[in-house]
Amino acid sequence: MADITELSELYGNWNYPTSVRFGVGKIGELTDVCRQLNVNSPLLVTDKGLASLPLITDILQQLSDANFNPVVFCEVKPNPTGSNIADGVKCYHQGNHDGVIAIGGGSGLDAGKAIALMVGQDRSIWDFEDVGDNWLRVNEQGIAPIIAIPTTSGTGSEVGRASVIVDEQQHNKKLIFHPKMLPEVVIGDPALTVGLPAHITAATGIDAFVHNLEAYCAPGYHPMADGIALEGMRLIKNWLPTAFNDGTNLTARSHMMVASTMGATAFQKGLGGVHALAHPLGANFDAHHGLLNAILLPYVLNANRAHIEVKIAEVAYHLRLDDPTFDGFMHWLADFSQQLNIPQNLGDIGISAEKHQMIGEQAVLDPCASGNPVALSAAQYASIFVKAVEGNFS
Ligand SMILES: [Zn+2]
Repeated sequence: MADITELSELYGNWNYPTSVRFGVGKIGELTDVCRQLNVNSPLLVTDKGLASLPLITDILQQLSDANFNPVVFCEVKPNPTGSNIADGVKCYHQGNHDGVIAIGGGSGLDAGKAIALMVGQDRSIWDFEDVGDNWLRVNEQGIAPIIAIPTTSGTGSEVGRASVIVDEQQHNKKLIFHPKMLPEVVIGDPALTVGLPAHITAATGIDAFVHNLEAYCAPGYHPMADGIALEGMRLIKNWLPTAFNDGTNLTARSHMMVASTMGATAFQKGLGGVHALAHPLGANFDAHHGLLNAILLPYVLNANRAHIEVKIAEVAYHLRLDDPTFDGFMHWLADFSQQLNIPQNLGDIGISAEKHQMIGEQAVLDPCASGNPVALSAAQYASIFVKAVEGNFS
């Protein structure tokens, strides 16, 4: 579908919600950004899969050519753990680094942000879990400067003020939060996402859609977040299929990258039940976060139906669906995820319902549960989970 913007216009330097340098080729400005932030010896945090790719080696070359001394830390699991962060902090101190460049999808970005937080703290990382005013315990001066470079279009973690970290002892994911974990500078270069395989493009793209959708449906008065969320969803509807079918289409890649950043900007308002369930599932089954959200979305919407019918109809209207109702939206969503080859249930990705009680209990405790349009009980989350495993829409 046509959009009003042409590729030549898809550049910008924005200061909202942080300093964002956006456009194809903007990665070339990384050394300028390091100088701007007085970072001379950055620790580059990413995941193992990316570390050996030309994308990272090119960045290292750019930094070395400009006489910076970058070191790579890539001992980061797909769902980063507390010990990954502790190892990164050690590496930061050993190398006498003075800033963090976080590169990647959610794993690299979240790990980089958490390492930057933890290099100047005396307490355990779990003391900064996003509960009450725990964030006030943080020694702000100790947080290292953070430059974020997303390489997928989904998480939006480049503009988030928290990291999701797995607590291996308790087998759950915790949100580690401080307002200054918002990176000082983001370099959004859509060309970095051209090599993403189609299935990752789809899963991360729907994750971005879910961020916008859950933010829009979260309770509370926040017209700014709502406006961003609606436009984020429209861009994803119009451009994710193109990015999925032709990964080299830079117009599609650009719109998807912005839509992902928009999702995380909007979800300062809140997320909801999809994320409340995806977090314990990710921690217990080590499954891909975006894929979990993509599969869970229709099941959670069904469970929330009585509380979101009007809102979803507004979304459907904004997306210019032929049938701008809740049912029209659900039909469109089913077609959309089929086009993107998203499995229809959790059983298809090897998840069984055995632990449903525990998953329900963990979901209700997840911080995202408070953003769901209606408070669901552990038993209700467990039931949604079982239905999502079985593909049961009743
Ligand atoms: Zn997400």
